[in-house]
Amino acid sequence: MSGAVKGRIIRGIGGFYYVKDAKGREFSCKAKGLFRKQGTKPLVGDMCMFEEVPESDPDSALPVGSITEILPRKNELIRPAVANVDQAVLFFALKDPDVNPGLLDGFLVQMELGGIPAALVFNKSDLDEQSGMEQRLRDRFANAPYRLFFISVKEAGSEQAEGSSDTASEDEEGLDSLRALLKGRCSVLAGPSGAGKSSFINLIAPHALMETGSISQKTQRGKHTTRRSELISLDNDTFIFDTPGFTALDYDSLTKEDVQRGFAEIRKWSGECRFSGCSHITEPGCRVLEKLEEGQISRERYSSYVSMYKACGERKRY
Ligand code: GDP
Ligand code: ZN
Repeated sequence: MSGAVKGRIIRGIGGFYYVKDAKGREFSCKAKGLFRKQGTKPLVGDMCMFEEVPESDPDSALPVGSITEILPRKNELIRPAVANVDQAVLFFALKDPDVNPGLLDGFLVQMELGGIPAALVFNKSDLDEQSGMEQRLRDRFANAPYRLFFISVKEAGSEQAEGSSDTASEDEEGLDSLRALLKGRCSVLAGPSGAGKSSFINLIAPHALMETGSISQKTQRGKHTTRRSELISLDNDTFIFDTPGFTALDYDSLTKEDVQRGFAEIRKWSGECRFSGCSHITEPGCRVLEKLEEGQISRERYSSYVSMYKACGERKRY
């Protein structure tokens, strides 16, 4: 056996883990004895040490390896099960389907609670000529710590096909800056079905072969399988984790404090309220309500906060 080298687990199927090394070579690995040794079950996204097994299985298209160690995780998500996420890219369409602000804020709460930085992508800008949705979203998030990107995968795709070097968006925060944001990081891509996630992945990583207009994914073996945990690599240090099962917020597992922590621009002022434990809804001397009056917290985000705050209170009583 040669010495162990470092790699990243990009996929796990039936007890096998597919590991990519720094040079981009892929290995099919077992993780024998790892649980006994480290008490850890490998996750997609894990950085690991592995050894190449020289007498590889001749039936295997890939070189074979053995994972010897899971390196310490920066973070881990439970649903979906993935480790070492650098950021979340929440993907919505400006239209068709319409943005569901409650779902969007729910995603953001989950990311805040997980300590994962988030960026918001609004696709299908080609369909948003007159509606003013873009401006409404810009206002909504003006005081929240998230970058917004407005793109049209469709227009970028046709320009790419025509060989144009321009990107579709005239916006500063368009497709090019989104590519730059992804570069060198491991990003979770999440959003409602129909927003254009598969189309986006096909545009930026044509080798990934996502089937658009459907929630199933074509594997390279041509079989339809239900989607599973998989990291799509754009290059050796850029990964996108495409998550089918990114669920809406689960109020049962959420406390009122979680909701308060989940809205960054509300949390920012909460230490300055007169009463500790202030709900920021009715209390006198509430700094959050002051900031709302001053226009430093968006009304839409605030009402989203209030309804989430109340929703988890109601559940708890029963
Ligand atoms: P997913 O469910 O998020 O993976 O969404 P898909 O990539 O399957 O896209 C859903 C539909 O939206 C497909 O019919 C795409 O062709 C279409 N679509 C994707 N991007 C755009 C876009 O920028 N503009 C328009 N008009 N349609 C788009
Ligand atoms: Zn308050």
